[in-house]
Amino acid sequence: MLKTVKEMLKCAEEKLVEAGVCDSPRLDAKYLLAHVMKLDLSELPISGDKPVPFEVEDELEELLKRRMDYEPVSKIIGSRGFWKHDFKVNEYVLDPRADTETLVETALKYAATIDVKKIVDFGVGSGCILLSVLSELEGVCGIGVDISEEAIKIAEENAATCGVKDMVGFLRKSWSDDDFLEHIERDYDIILSNPPYITTNDYNNLSKEVVNYDPEYALCGGDDGLDAYRELAPIFYKVLAKDGVVVLEIGKGQMGDVVDIMSSYGFVLIDKIRDMGGVLRCLVLKKLQKL
Ligand code: GLN
Repeated sequence: MLKTVKEMLKCAEEKLVEAGVCDSPRLDAKYLLAHVMKLDLSELPISGDKPVPFEVEDELEELLKRRMDYEPVSKIIGSRGFWKHDFKVNEYVLDPRADTETLVETALKYAATIDVKKIVDFGVGSGCILLSVLSELEGVCGIGVDISEEAIKIAEENAATCGVKDMVGFLRKSWSDDDFLEHIERDYDIILSNPPYITTNDYNNLSKEVVNYDPEYALCGGDDGLDAYRELAPIFYKVLAKDGVVVLEIGKGQMGDVVDIMSSYGFVLIDKIRDMGGVLRCLVLKKLQKL
């Protein structure tokens, strides 16, 4: 006998509860079931009596095994909702975090106050920050920098689904390369970045979901977590327009250190924004204007 969607959901949820791997077994089961049934999450409640074909049940079984092996739902279904779009994700890009939407909101707030023509995102990954910002603006072009060719492929696909393909370009290069500055334009009005900022110590204590399925190079910021800020600060100074702003993500408790680094390269802090969890997550900095 075929199970119905409703019965299958209960079964899947029970398996996840028993495995004890996730905080939200029901929601995870819903995502996975909707995915194999090729339904939108919102269609599940009205599809409760639909029969689940055996091959779909087998497919779900496989996905549940992956979830029980700590693979995040987003990486299993290959997509994560962020801001107003679904972003394709895989093992080469950081799973977009809801906290990072703080950067999008902040960049848009500043974009409304300055004349923005060019935006750059350092460590663009899936493109979630840059593409979300571009999708809300007109007459602006963006460039996404990343060390990973695979990440850029994903970001390119996401640019198309966000409808901003014609507004964006990508540069595959490491910002620690000696000749980096020869490859990037100047006078960006907004610099965006969510650089790797986890300390080596904290990285070793992260959950399996993160360590096994997010790329290490997108997370690890060296012993004190601040390596990327030290590398980026002088680059930001060279490529930022005179009246431009840097909108930067930081980790918990890093504000003092990051502001010190940025100040030593000629920046001043003009704004700091907390994420939904109350953590100071986003800094806005400008070039100190010389008198
Ligand atoms: N916010 C991410 C996390 O907590 C880290 C992102 C980063 O290192 N830039 O896993």
